[in-house]
Amino acid sequence: MKSLVLEEKLKLSLRDFPIEEALGPRDVRIGIHTVGICGSDVHYYTHGGIGQFIVREPMILGHEASGTVTEVGAQVTNLKVGDRVCMEPGIPDPNSRASRLGMYNIDPAVRFWATPPVHGCLRPSVVHPADFTFKLPDNVSFAEAAMVEPLAVGVHAATKARVKPGDVALVQGAGPIGLVTALSALAAGCARVFLTDVDDTKLEIGASLSKAITTINVGKGDATAEILRQTEGWGVECVFECSGHPRAAGQVFDALCPGGVVVFVGIPVEPFHYDLGKAMVREARVEQIFRYAHVFPRCVGLIASGAIDVKPLITRKFAFEDSVHAFEVAATAPKGQVKMQIELP
Ligand SMILES: [Zn+2]
Repeated sequence: MKSLVLEEKLKLSLRDFPIEEALGPRDVRIGIHTVGICGSDVHYYTHGGIGQFIVREPMILGHEASGTVTEVGAQVTNLKVGDRVCMEPGIPDPNSRASRLGMYNIDPAVRFWATPPVHGCLRPSVVHPADFTFKLPDNVSFAEAAMVEPLAVGVHAATKARVKPGDVALVQGAGPIGLVTALSALAAGCARVFLTDVDDTKLEIGASLSKAITTINVGKGDATAEILRQTEGWGVECVFECSGHPRAAGQVFDALCPGGVVVFVGIPVEPFHYDLGKAMVREARVEQIFRYAHVFPRCVGLIASGAIDVKPLITRKFAFEDSVHAFEVAATAPKGQVKMQIELP
């Protein structure tokens, strides 16, 4: 089956790739329609690995996908052939201790698409557990459905923050994950979100998403002073650190109000330090997230109802035949692009 294969660092090919997938009784086979290009896919392409995950043999990329069910296993009751779906790409061991405790996303045995040695979904079809496959309402497009995976990160972050109606949030970093986190914080009840970055193009896109988003370029001004000025010196109830940048991550408590919460979302490349004293005087609650759990149906619901509009984040589409080129473009981090997607025939 013709697939987008990362042969090794900086070498992609669209070629026939033998992959044997048996349809288990609780699985479905899905014809893939749309796949979003994620920063992690691009990082595997440009660096050949992320942290402990190293690409040692050819691997199919892609993990943000939607499609149509083409075959169902004997015990599947919730899906049928022809259903339009999106898929949660991380499959845990359902009997593991972490899964039984409800934390299946941090099950050490989780198998996640396009994380070595597990193949991704940039190929015509995949076999996937029905329990991790979610039916789409008619008014959710395949393109929007392929945004559910990144959106799930933002919704999981807002869930961890335990946002209350009227909270004010700061989102550090206006990349795709920062933007979905800002939208998720608003959908969770935030009255207002400050969004910071050093890139005006990204901030302009952020500002265009909602009147409740106020952008600050941290390369040009003092975000903490500005936020304190605009909140009568109180600060924000929630800080979402989505930049992964050591300096930004080290300053997470500066604009945090007493009793506020910090959620670390962006993955740091190197270990970094934060000021524990600043956390203590605020009795700050500090949370970390790893991907998401239990939020895919919520994300589908938020898109279907219009509570979250992901369409402005989908900025460019490529045909499957052009997917090598799509990654070459993505690797240049083109300005003004948020989410690029690949459509299969
Ligand atoms: Zn992703």
